[in-house]
Amino acid sequence: MAIHIDYDLCTGCKRCVKICPYNGVDVKDGKAVINDRCTSCGACIDTCPENAISSDIKEKEIPDFSDFRGIWVFAEQVDGIMGRVTRELLGLGQSLARELDQELSAVLLGNNVDHLIEELREYGAQNVYLAQHKLLSSYQTNPFAKVISELIVENKPNIFLIGATAIGRDLAPRISMRLNLGLTADCTELTIDPDDSSLLQTRPAFGGNVMATIKTPYSRPQMATVRPGVMEAKKTASVSECMVKNIDVSLLEKDALTKILGIVREKGKIISLGDAKVIVAGGRGVGSEEGLKPLFQLADILGGEVAGTRMVIEEGWLPAERQVGQTGQTVRPELYIACGISGAIQHRAGMLGSRYVIAINTDERAPIFEVADWGIVGNLHEVVPTLSKAMKERRARQGA
Ligand code: FAD
Repeated sequence: MAIHIDYDLCTGCKRCVKICPYNGVDVKDGKAVINDRCTSCGACIDTCPENAISSDIKEKEIPDFSDFRGIWVFAEQVDGIMGRVTRELLGLGQSLARELDQELSAVLLGNNVDHLIEELREYGAQNVYLAQHKLLSSYQTNPFAKVISELIVENKPNIFLIGATAIGRDLAPRISMRLNLGLTADCTELTIDPDDSSLLQTRPAFGGNVMATIKTPYSRPQMATVRPGVMEAKKTASVSECMVKNIDVSLLEKDALTKILGIVREKGKIISLGDAKVIVAGGRGVGSEEGLKPLFQLADILGGEVAGTRMVIEEGWLPAERQVGQTGQTVRPELYIACGISGAIQHRAGMLGSRYVIAINTDERAPIFEVADWGIVGNLHEVVPTLSKAMKERRARQGA
């Protein structure tokens, strides 16, 4: 047992019982007793007014990581097309690199993907670690995790950022596990701690009710995944030349563990909300799944997508991947039309990056109007079809 009670000092005041988050302390016969639920977290030590509690756990020493330098971004691509989250992570990487006075690099894996180097440079990559091999043609967990883990061990980056996409969410924990690194998933903010230059990784916790800021002091690189749409992509003219570091890839079929026999694309799949230029979003005000139909019609006319609030998803009127907000997707369309949405803070968190917002609500005091460029106080079941009709007529007049 690492926590000790000095029974001569203990008065049985129970302060330690109350503070313990694990119910790891009992009071028996007027004295505190540590039970087997104790995790030795030490929360009880400072709370004891008699200094009766002590611990023999030594504070873990923080290793010297001064030789770990550089900010790395995983350049996610599918079929030779760069994912937008890569551009966004490079945008974030530019500011981190500036603040730390370290270089920004992209890690690009694939086969015949040299054409992406120029795009990576435009978005700020000073170096590109380029690994090309036929086993890297399509994403597979083991080959990607192996190549990147070896690269990390050899080059010692300080920070490694990965998109919280389906691929990134699969890849990041594999690397973290292989190299015994800390990993903070789904970050919404990444900044540098002015005191020790470490990465402060902020993400929603406890179902989004609090924002937790996490540090990983005991391992390098500091790894974080970031959801698409949260950071801003920024082209930069400051990188005129990008250094390409070709990696010698030694992969065998057996390293893959799996074999891709074919890739079947889902037919008629809606484009991701993150890429939509126009989003028509419905809230509880639509009233039913049927009530979403006029929104689909308007989205169709505008070439957009339909999304919803958490209420709409919970009612089962739209699938979960259509949810916008703190616990859903973060979107940045040119136009966001909010129909029957009150504008709760958790919803606004996902759509505030929209260029223009139109809100339609029967309640003129609805908070959504505070963030709207144009507000229409009215019944969406009348307003939305009227908008669709007007758009159609306008298109017809323009001969479109
Ligand atoms: P309501 O708040 O009920 O608003 C309905 C609106 O429709 C009202 O303003 C009403 O005036 C209007 N209305 C009614 N009838 C009509 C009509 N015929 N025409 C026009 N307007 C009409 N929410 C999200 O959206 N995304 C999230 O990611 C998310 N994450 C959350 C995380 C946490 C931890 C918590 C606690 C909550 C989260 N929520 C999230 C829920 C959020 O707090 C709100 O409850 C939710 O956004 C409200 O959805 P709503 O606007 O559809 O419904």
